[in-house]
Amino acid sequence: MTLMLGISLAGRDVLMVGGGRVAARRLARFLAEGARVRVVAPELHDDTARLVVDHELAWEARAFHSRDLGGAWLVHVATGDPAIDREVAESCEIARILCIDASDGERGSARLTAQAEIGDVSIGVTSTAGADPRRSVAVRDAITELVGDGRLPLRRRRAARIGRVDLVGGGPGPIDLMTIRARRLIAEADVLVIDRLGPAAEIVAEADAEVEVIDVGKAPGRHPVPQEEINRIIVARAREGRRVVRLKGGDPFVFGRGGEEMSACLAAGIPVEVTPGISSAVAVPQAAGIPVTHRGTAGAFHVVNGQGPIGRGTRTALADPFVTTVVLMGVASLARLVGAALAQGASLDRPVAFVESGHTPQQRTTRTTLGRAVEDAARIGLRNPAVIVIGEVAEESLLLPTRNRTGAALA
Ligand code: SAH
Repeated sequence: MTLMLGISLAGRDVLMVGGGRVAARRLARFLAEGARVRVVAPELHDDTARLVVDHELAWEARAFHSRDLGGAWLVHVATGDPAIDREVAESCEIARILCIDASDGERGSARLTAQAEIGDVSIGVTSTAGADPRRSVAVRDAITELVGDGRLPLRRRRAARIGRVDLVGGGPGPIDLMTIRARRLIAEADVLVIDRLGPAAEIVAEADAEVEVIDVGKAPGRHPVPQEEINRIIVARAREGRRVVRLKGGDPFVFGRGGEEMSACLAAGIPVEVTPGISSAVAVPQAAGIPVTHRGTAGAFHVVNGQGPIGRGTRTALADPFVTTVVLMGVASLARLVGAALAQGASLDRPVAFVESGHTPQQRTTRTTLGRAVEDAARIGLRNPAVIVIGEVAEESLLLPTRNRTGAALA
């Protein structure tokens, strides 16, 4: 039988008896917890010696004596000699000090668990059927994976004094293109603030009934909630002590107004962090087999918001044969972009690709050229969300083996 305790060792005296490799590994764990470790061992393994030097630990270079126990809260013994280990464990028993016996996990009065820290949760696994560290580690790893994927209910049941906001990138749509961290933060959230892009629908379908879901993508009149109002919502919920996840399509800092939300939180003194997501700027072309850079073909890529003004950088990119231009939110302004490219001297047959609803079952790719792009967009009824790729990499045969063999793509 064991009772698992969460023991805080910070600033507490821990005695290590033995200086071998096992001792080094354990020593590192105690030091990570902030324990004040002393070592008693006639000699030290290199790994142990390094820790002793690096952390300026007290080391007695001799055999154990029972008076070493004085002041210790916890003793760890790993001398490599089971008889000595047993003697130390027995002395601890008499002195009523908890002892971890590395040579016999069942004999000591305490044992280490296979432990993991995931966000603000600690998990420890041990076995009551005799020490079996590998099994404990395997169980711990399996639990860690479940927690990491957001498949265990990690949500706090008690509100904290002050909440927090996580700006989380959801990637282009499929749930398995989200990061493990994103999944965990969502599992911990009390409030989910979502819009239409990315994996929002699937995430909401999975959320517990108690989780508040706020859709800022479209309000009753189908108008999106203004940015200032979104900022106000996330700050207010965090002030109530709740954990807020602001889930965004792609990456929060790529045309996601994540910067403004972060500023609002910082101004209000709310803890805020960003979790990156896979941006559609790269992943949507990729879904259609288009690399945004390609050796010998495109040495740079320029990402632009199609709704904004066409600046000098964009005009230069559009006409540069070695630069790929990736346009987000560009459907409505396609004619303007094409006009700018041609005015800049780009050729009429410069390749263009439209990739609609990338990484979803509705994905559709259309290949065209600058000369035909506007006409083709009208013909197919090009719709949002779509990424427009302009440049040599959008050429359909780019990655086909025949083309590479003939060298036709090489400049
Ligand atoms: N932060 C997001 C971009 C938000 S702007 C990111 O990093 O991906 C929204 C634009 O992203 C859309 O207008 C469209 O151009 C593009 N987009 C996002 N998801 C898309 C998808 N699955 N397929 C095609 N385009 C997408």
